[in-house]
Amino acid sequence: MSHKNTNKMDNYCSFQIVQPIIHYGLHFLFPAVIALAFFRKEWKKAWLIMVLTMLVDLDHLLANPIFDPNRCSINFHILHTYYAMIAYVALLFFKKTRIVSVGLLFHMFTDYQDCLWSRYFCNC
Ligand SMILES: [Zn+2]
Repeated sequence: MSHKNTNKMDNYCSFQIVQPIIHYGLHFLFPAVIALAFFRKEWKKAWLIMVLTMLVDLDHLLANPIFDPNRCSINFHILHTYYAMIAYVALLFFKKTRIVSVGLLFHMFTDYQDCLWSRYFCNC
């Protein structure tokens, strides 16, 4: 790879410094907003459950390499496929699993916007 190309790549991917901040901001802060808006009575519990849905990222352990910032999780990892999402939507219909479902679907949204950003900024 020529020097010029390397520089270009660096510029494109400088967003990757900001991206994890947005990513984890969304993973932690936005569930708090949802919890306060829709589950106000037990918002702390709702927030905790939604934060815990981050455990679906454990499916990354099955992948090689485990972490790759340029890889799109959606439809790559088993718990991040459209099939899994159908199951998450199904959980919406049961009162007991509704918060988990919202958390999981929001997690998918967060991961998905990551894919869009890295595609846009890193040309990958
Ligand atoms: Zn994920």
